Parts: sequence; structure tokens; C-alpha cells
Amino acid sequence: MRDLTHIQNVIVKVGSSSLTDSNGKINDEKMLKIVSQLAYIKRKGMNVILVSSGAQAAGIGILGLDKKPCEIPKKQALAAIGQAKLMQHYENLFRIFNLTCSQVLVNHGDFDNRKRLINLENTMEAMLNYGVIPIVNENDTLAVDEIKVGDNDTLAALMVPAVNGDILILMSDIDGLYNGNPNTDPNAKLISYVSDVNDVEEYAEDSSSALGTGGMVTKLNAARMVNAYGCDMAIINAGGENTLIRFIDGEEIGTLFDGHRERPLSARKHWIMYRSIVKGQIIVDDGAFAAIRNKHTSLLPKGILDVKGDFMISSVVEIMDKKGNVCARGIVNYSSDEIRLIKGINTNEIESRLNHKDYDEVIHANNLVVIKE
Ligand code: GLU
Repeated sequence: MRDLTHIQNVIVKVGSSSLTDSNGKINDEKMLKIVSQLAYIKRKGMNVILVSSGAQAAGIGILGLDKKPCEIPKKQALAAIGQAKLMQHYENLFRIFNLTCSQVLVNHGDFDNRKRLINLENTMEAMLNYGVIPIVNENDTLAVDEIKVGDNDTLAALMVPAVNGDILILMSDIDGLYNGNPNTDPNAKLISYVSDVNDVEEYAEDSSSALGTGGMVTKLNAARMVNAYGCDMAIINAGGENTLIRFIDGEEIGTLFDGHRERPLSARKHWIMYRSIVKGQIIVDDGAFAAIRNKHTSLLPKGILDVKGDFMISSVVEIMDKKGNVCARGIVNYSSDEIRLIKGINTNEIESRLNHKDYDEVIHANNLVVIKE
């Protein structure tokens, strides 16, 4: 048995295939299976946040299309059509259990912008205090490349800090992470416990391509993001009998990625590293690259060779060498235009170049997260 007694806030993510038939029609039996298990968790006194896909799939079913269109406006229209239907079904099913749900549609921009993020956090807290089950999905109808998350494994991981999650459970169509391809390798074994995501990275490609879930890589990235916040993550099979209930009650099913209940990164650094949107790149010389990577130093104008992208003060950018190897992400004290003017110079020359100098550092070490090789 696993000891999950510390868990209070549970985020559950379900994919489209766990809610709809292959032709996109919403399958009430499948949905009821999920909802009844969520109701069980809620009755145990935990807070439940559901991240649910299925909007576009439901849209396809409603319009009776035989396949998903390629054009983005059509996909966005399908999401709008399907999302309403999906919520209608959720409302009806949760009502059976005397539970109220709510709809939350977000994009990456909502996590990137501090003000919107705080607003989201406050609203989520208010909903949980009302005893409501928030149902989160990406606002696909309005998503454009710059602000979209793209997949709901990542979206669910982004929600973890916003609701102070203790565990994220990804309900998938496979039992968990295997150390090989279970379809072709009879010796492939389910990995029940992962202490450090980096130890199992090699298994991601195997499983995703072979099983066609389109996602073991994104799931491991989600685990990395969630574990770095001290929160656990699990992958369980949505298709099995009462898997969610059994998992929450401590049965050793699925794969558990242990967050060890400690945060290697502060909330601010976690945001820089995982939740902000990168607005540009600063290319540095080998000396600055090594100093940042090995000694976690601030970035000064002297070591800067070039700048990519147009960004404002306080944006998050990547620091890389000429070959494109990234050594850090950080918040800039100067805009891209200003950095272009001061690149390569000594700090005592900044003022004469810009007619002002607010900082010596282009990125201060406190606002910088080093990425190891
Ligand atoms: N937001 C998409 C939808 O509701 C799903 C994205 C995903 O499944 O990762 O159709």
C-alpha cells in the first residue's frame, strides 16, 4: 500500500478518449465512471480539480464529422461547440451526486501574466471554498500559438501551483510508465515508483510512439514540473475498474512520481522555469556561459554577443551559447533594444550608452534559473 494520507488537493486530468467514443460522441457511461470516482474523493474530504479534454472531440460528434479538420478556425469552432455540450453532461452527472461543478477556460498567457495568475489563484480558492469542482480546459477557441499551452497534461501541471495541489493524477489509456514497449516486448515492466524523473527519461520515447497515446514525453515533462513544486504525480489507466478510487485509497497501481514534499525551486524560480512564456534569447560568449552554468553568476552586458526577439523589461528569456545550448532562463532588467545597445560593453559604460542605468546586471542571479546539461 502507498501512504497518500497527506493529500488534500487533488488534480485529475482526463483525456478525450476517456470521455467520448471513437466517433466523438460523448459517452455518458464513460463520463459517469469518472464523475462517480471524483465524487468518492470529494466525499473523503479532499478538494478536487478536474482538467478535462474532450471539447474538440465532442464538437466533431455533435456536427457528425467523420474526422478532425486541419484548419485552425474550424478546430477552434469545434472546441466552442463541444465545450458547452461537455459541461452540460458534467453538470447533469455531478448533480446525481449532489455536487456542483464550474467551468474554467485558460491559456498559457493566464499563467505567464502575474496579475492574471493571482486572479486565477484567488478564484480557484474561492471555488474550492464553495465546495465546487472546477473543470478546467484550455480556451482553445481563442488560443493562438503565442499563448497556447497545447496539451492538457501540461495544462494540468500548470494548474498545480495555482491550487496548491498535492497530487496530479493523469488518467490515461495505459497503465503507467513501462521500462520498454509492452506491445512488442513481453519483458517490459510497469514502473510503479519513480523517485527522480531524470532516471526514467529514456523510457518516454519507447512508450509514447508505440502505444500511440501521443504523450509519454509530455507526461514526463509534466512530472518534472510538478515534482519541482514538491507535488506528486501519477499516471493511471482510466479504463480499469475504479482505478482512481483504488489509487487514492493507496493501492499500488499506475506509476507514482514522488515530489518528496520539498521544493527545490522557490515559487518565483518555478514560475520562471516552468510557467512563464519565453519572449526571446540572449546569446552569450563561452566565458559567460560557463560562469552562469557552473557558478550561477548574474549576466552582465560584457558577455553578451547577440539578442533574438523583441521583448520588454521584466520579460523571461533564455540564455544560450552560439550553438544554441541553453544554460539558463531569467528575467531581464533591460529591453531587447537596450540590450542590443549595451552588448559587449563594461557595466561602467552602460549609462553613457543608454543615458540611464538602473542595473549593472542584464539578468540578476536571483532572477535566473540555471539549466544543467
Ligand atoms: N483542449 C483540447 C480539447 O478539449 C484537448 C487537448 C488535449 O487533450 O491535450 O479538445
